[in-house]
Amino acid sequence: MTDSSPTDRTETDLERLDKQTLWHPFTQMKEWMESPQLVIERGRGVYLHDTRGRKYLDGVSSLWANIHGHSHPHIVRAIRRQLDRLDHSSLLGLTNAPAAQLAGKLVELTPPNLTRVFFSDDGATAVEIALKMSFQYWRNRGRRWDSKKTFVAFSNAYHGDTLGSVSVGGVRLFHEVFRPLLFPTIRVPYPYCYRCPLGKQPPNCEIDQLQEFEQVLRTRHREICGVVVEPMIQGAGGMVPMPKGFLGKLAELTRRFGVHLILDEVATGFGRTGRMLALEHEGVQPDFLALAKGITGGTLPLAATLTSEEIFESFLGEYEEFKSFFHGHTYTGNPLACAAALANLEVFSKEKTLQKLQGKIRYLTKALRRMWELPCVGDVRQLGFMAGIELVRDRGSSQPFPVGRRMGHRVVLQARRRGVLLRPLGDTVVLMPPLSITRPQLKTMVEVTYNSIQAAWEEE
Ligand SMILES: *Cc1c(COP(=O)(O)O)cnc(C)c1O
Repeated sequence: MTDSSPTDRTETDLERLDKQTLWHPFTQMKEWMESPQLVIERGRGVYLHDTRGRKYLDGVSSLWANIHGHSHPHIVRAIRRQLDRLDHSSLLGLTNAPAAQLAGKLVELTPPNLTRVFFSDDGATAVEIALKMSFQYWRNRGRRWDSKKTFVAFSNAYHGDTLGSVSVGGVRLFHEVFRPLLFPTIRVPYPYCYRCPLGKQPPNCEIDQLQEFEQVLRTRHREICGVVVEPMIQGAGGMVPMPKGFLGKLAELTRRFGVHLILDEVATGFGRTGRMLALEHEGVQPDFLALAKGITGGTLPLAATLTSEEIFESFLGEYEEFKSFFHGHTYTGNPLACAAALANLEVFSKEKTLQKLQGKIRYLTKALRRMWELPCVGDVRQLGFMAGIELVRDRGSSQPFPVGRRMGHRVVLQARRRGVLLRPLGDTVVLMPPLSITRPQLKTMVEVTYNSIQAAWEEE
């Protein structure tokens, strides 16, 4: 064997080109440019393959998007077939079959009050569109509602990276620097029980958690257009599930005080939490629903904002009344992405994805129990196929590791050596595999995670 096979050379060239020209998202590029990087070339099922022929289990579904495995033949075929017919045509002034068909399917899939679908390309835009629609809805209703101008958002929330979505976000690390550019919102505490914002302990803490929220709605509902929330579990905020009953109660309060409920299911949608949508856990009907990530099974960018007929109708009128929703993106309703999304939904029924998932969720819960053996594990949180393992220096006091120790990052490097790709949220190790993962693969993923946390902790 020579020490430089042709594929090796390709990797080296590509890596060099990357380091000279690319700027990666959410990445300290100094660190990136100084360390060796993987060049991913191929994906099949739950595995990604790099240019050196190494194979990795995709433990975070390529940023939470992949559902049925990479390059699933049914979705690939649907995209190919669509590509031979029509690549792209605009929804501004025209329509196309995949967009109309997908809108129909999404309306069937979601609560009965949601009857209208607005497409865009990313989770951030789907949320931003819901905010703008809600705001304009109150303008359309007339002068009496002029005071409704702001939104309620939860601490530690994440809704994407465009300025509107950042305005309703609450992850200090990502959002703080942009604060002067953002519109003001009303912030309420999220029940992050491991680090309770109110310093409460179970069993009676849930009630207190919504008290401040209720108080805000009671006293300020005349200023509030709507409330934005990630249903059942916060994702990027660290995989933090809500206490049981919280979402249902929250929804009831929004109705009682006449403010919109905007659910951001960008991360939780399409089976992630064990149900097709997370809102099903508590039978909630939102006024707006934002979908993205898993909508195309993780193949192409697409997002959707759904809303009710009542809200939609407030935008109807003569052109010169200027009630239209003046918002759109070039690739809104892209036929390739919509064809992929239709195929994604077909695979759900063909492969009985949700039925098969239930046993795997229980298996994951059991397998995760072993994590508590590791002294640096402070908390283990899970809802369906969204799991987070929070690492701390001291479990008793939940004292975090110093930021410079890069514990989460170290675990990821250890896991990579063992053939599993992960991406942490600070020092919370995230496990979020494709729903199609098998039990033996799930077992490997959890074992590798355990060993990687142990190895990272023992370093130094
Ligand atoms: C990822 C995410 C977003 C942003 O989606 P993008 O497609 O990355 O813009 C918004 N909300 C939640 C809950 C998310 O997890």
